[in-house]
Amino acid sequence: MAATILDGLKIASEIRAEVASEVKAMAASGIRPGLAVILVGHNPASEIYVRGKVKSSEEVGIYSEQITPPDSISTEELLALVTDLNRRDEIDGILVQLPLPSQVDSKKILMAVDPRKDVDGFHPVNVGFLSTQRPGLVPCTPAGIIEILKRSAVPIVGQEAVVVGRSDIVGKPTAMLLINGNATVTVCHSKTHDLPGVCRRGDILVAAIGRAGMITRDFVKPGATVIDVGMNKVTDRAEFDRLFAGNAKREEGFRSKGSTLVGDVHPEVAAVAGRLTPVPGGVGPLTIAMLMANTVRAAKLRRGAGIPAFAGERA
Ligand code: NDP
Repeated sequence: MAATILDGLKIASEIRAEVASEVKAMAASGIRPGLAVILVGHNPASEIYVRGKVKSSEEVGIYSEQITPPDSISTEELLALVTDLNRRDEIDGILVQLPLPSQVDSKKILMAVDPRKDVDGFHPVNVGFLSTQRPGLVPCTPAGIIEILKRSAVPIVGQEAVVVGRSDIVGKPTAMLLINGNATVTVCHSKTHDLPGVCRRGDILVAAIGRAGMITRDFVKPGATVIDVGMNKVTDRAEFDRLFAGNAKREEGFRSKGSTLVGDVHPEVAAVAGRLTPVPGGVGPLTIAMLMANTVRAAKLRRGAGIPAFAGERA
């Protein structure tokens, strides 16, 4: 039987609607959450991401501001911008869009963001809060993965979860959230021996690798829930055929655009998995929805208001 497809677009829109109603409730007490996005230079992909973030903020009623310094900015000048945003009371969330130009010390910039306004959840203070199960700000994509699991009624407690990828922004925080959710977690990476065998242990398998269609059916336990985080642009014809031979809809898109977006999971996995997130339309939409949720959470945290338990935190 083919896997049930978990609809990330639908879940993201539910979350946005919940955020919008929280923003409305906060307005009654005179609070409007505010998000500042720093976009350095003119990276086309970053410009698209930032546009999506600003548009989404407007839709849910969050105040948003874009700061667009030139490519030539120095670390000190960027630090001054971050310090100014740290000080401004109407700004609850600060997001520095990556990558930054090579002359800028990215680590120094991310460390300078006030952890209470760190809506990306990358600051070591928030990483520490997550690993010690204290209220803090959790990275958006991992938080979104947990929302998909919870809202699709996928059991987590006591389940074997395998995460492929150990990056600071996806793999590690996802593993931490799953541990906090009482799963038994294995984290894999490029040095893991017998990757297919380890992956087949997973009742939940999260692929955050950055390699088109690497997870084939022999990596998947029959009936497992497979979360595909990968976003890879395929332009090569042979690679396209390996993944989508006979798929007329994909073929049409590939012919007209010369590329197609594919996850880390091979489409053939749909025949083995119990549930599967698609690419596009799976984890991707959750990332921005969770940024909105994090901005509201930051606004509440900073004002010392009671905050609801985050998905993945132990109640
Ligand atoms: P990174 O490149 O930072 O990390 C990739 C991880 O995969 C590393 O831990 C690496 O291992 C591991 N890996 C690479 N090759 C293999 C292999 N052959 N076998 C086993 N493990 C391997 O990527 P990110 O975590 O930033 O992103 C992962 C994917 O998720 C990308 O496709 C990215 O575009 C996508 N993404 C999607 C988002 C969304 O909103 N949907 C948001 C963020 C990312 P090692 O540590 O040993 O090098």
